[in-house]
Amino acid sequence: MNTAKIALAFIFVLTLSLCAKETSALTSSSLTDVKIQSVLTEAYNKFKDDDSGKNADYIKALAEVNPKIFAITLVTPDGKIYEIGDTKELVSIQSISKVFTASLLLQERGDKFLQEKVGVNATGLAFNSVIAIELHGRTASNPFVNAGAIESTSWIKAKNSADRWYSIKQNMNDFAGRKLPFNEKVYISEVHDNKSNQAIAKLLDANNLMGSDPLEATTVYTKQCSVNISSHDLAVMGSSLANHGVNPISKKRVLDSKYVPKLLAVMATAGLYDNAGDWLYATGTPAKSGVGGGILAVVPGKLAIGVVSPPLDKYGNSVRGQEAAAYIINRLGLNPMAQ
Ligand code: GLU
Repeated sequence: MNTAKIALAFIFVLTLSLCAKETSALTSSSLTDVKIQSVLTEAYNKFKDDDSGKNADYIKALAEVNPKIFAITLVTPDGKIYEIGDTKELVSIQSISKVFTASLLLQERGDKFLQEKVGVNATGLAFNSVIAIELHGRTASNPFVNAGAIESTSWIKAKNSADRWYSIKQNMNDFAGRKLPFNEKVYISEVHDNKSNQAIAKLLDANNLMGSDPLEATTVYTKQCSVNISSHDLAVMGSSLANHGVNPISKKRVLDSKYVPKLLAVMATAGLYDNAGDWLYATGTPAKSGVGGGILAVVPGKLAIGVVSPPLDKYGNSVRGQEAAAYIINRLGLNPMAQ
């Protein structure tokens, strides 16, 4: 190779590396306030008229919630908030509360306890399945199906039921950075109709898996599901998980950083009921949904998205919630599996 060719090759390699630097700089700097807000607006406009799905009705009060509510909020680890839609409308948190009780359990008893006592594997069956418990050796499998959630609630350290409820509620308030309201109507509706959850708790108790009286734990669990949240609350709650366990707004530590990846891993495995695999395939992110119509997705280290829209698909996941959150994550190029 003569000197001219070597010089040309050198210039070529230099140009390539400069281009690569330019591209990655563009990618990170393209996450500007304007870009994030415009992607939220795109998602909102794209999906606002999708009226597919149906409110949950096995808890009667959920069927009466306005199905038109649609709100998206995104919070970053430096506490910036972006939002659009009915971001102050409240719905019951339902299953998303399971994330915060599992967080408290991790904090109180450690990751081995969660893994060995409750479990961290998917059931492949519906969130309220009784067969799943039998199939998996009378264990709950994970803290995000009803069985594992009620079991987790039962192990929260407390002197009595009122104390346990206080501690769970206080923990959710810390994640939200405010005192979350309680939805009495949803609670009354569900507490009179939670016999299968009671049966699940008793089944686990028969296998010595409950930390407190099974019916008492079911009542506290029903209360935690009846806490009201908005998309804004959800995104703030999730932002602590995107920020290594510190609430970026209040600056309060809500979970030891060493437990954050554990909790996010369970969300990735079992957060969207028996459709968690499809969700992970589409977005690569840990998330949790609730039958009240909320969904919370976390891009570790980057942001949290809360969406509220009550109509659900056949798995119990908010239709527009999944659509909007998946659109935003992919449009911002934030699928963690693609980094
Ligand atoms: N409270 C509801 C139940 O126990 C929560 C279900 C959910 O959101 O998945 O059925």
